[in-house]
Amino acid sequence: MSQLFSLATKRALITGSGRGIGFLMAKGLAEAGAEVIINATQQAGAQSAAEKLRALGHTAHAVAFDVTDSHQIHQAIDDIEAKIGPIDILINNAGIQRRRPFLEFAEQDWNDVIAVNQTAVFLVSQTVARHMAKRQSGKIINIGSMQSELGRDTITPYAASKGAVTMLTRGMCVELARYNIQVNGIAPGYFATEMTQALVDDKAFTEWLTKRTPAARWGNPEELIGAAVFLSSKASDFVNGHLLFVDGGMRVAV
Ligand code: NDP
Repeated sequence: MSQLFSLATKRALITGSGRGIGFLMAKGLAEAGAEVIINATQQAGAQSAAEKLRALGHTAHAVAFDVTDSHQIHQAIDDIEAKIGPIDILINNAGIQRRRPFLEFAEQDWNDVIAVNQTAVFLVSQTVARHMAKRQSGKIINIGSMQSELGRDTITPYAASKGAVTMLTRGMCVELARYNIQVNGIAPGYFATEMTQALVDDKAFTEWLTKRTPAARWGNPEELIGAAVFLSSKASDFVNGHLLFVDGGMRVAV
């Protein structure tokens, strides 16, 4: 791999990386040379994912914490920095989705979605960026969603939370550039994971998706690795505040 994209000597924390897109991005960063820190809500989930990467010859650690709990975040980040080493790259990937019609959406579900998808990006980024700022170096990647661009049935709170991730990305870019920290986002379209399993199983939805997406198919979660490696690497040092859509062209098609 070109030195421009090499992550050798870099250490990356990826939230929500015990499974799904987070795990594949952690694997991709490890393949590019990074030491990775797997995070999940439970230690067992983080541990088994880290073991899978170690079995492939990568250096991987497991650190469980709930991204909505500021006490757990502070403790975990301080522990990582002191016992494992400085975090060079943070990927805010943890996310949840609740689908219900707007008129039926419960306040608790709204609060849960906002806490994981939006507030956690603020909390985890601020905690990690305080360490990065002292070192005058770092890269933060926020996983948003192409849904933040579309009005669509049953996922208004999710889309709103991801819209906030777009603005967190832009604001953090402006405020953290002075510390040589680049902040960018990735906005995936539709990818088959546990989060979207009900849609994958819904034939009518897949028919709609293939008509609506220029690429005419679901995304393969591995297709997000390239964007994550690029935005983590030296190759993107002058890319800042950008949201990279990985959606088979869906956002720009009418
Ligand atoms: P999954 O449902 O497969 O995985 C979600 C991950 O988030 C899990 O690892 C889960 O950890 C973690 N997580 C959830 N809540 C918390 C929490 N409170 N603290 C720590 N970790 C938490 O989702 P995907 O892999 O599909 O999605 C990953 C990201 O990509 C999300 O931000 C999602 O919104 C975004 N995205 C996904 C798309 C798709 O089509 N799949 C499209 C656009 C964006 P645990 O295993 O411990 O439960």
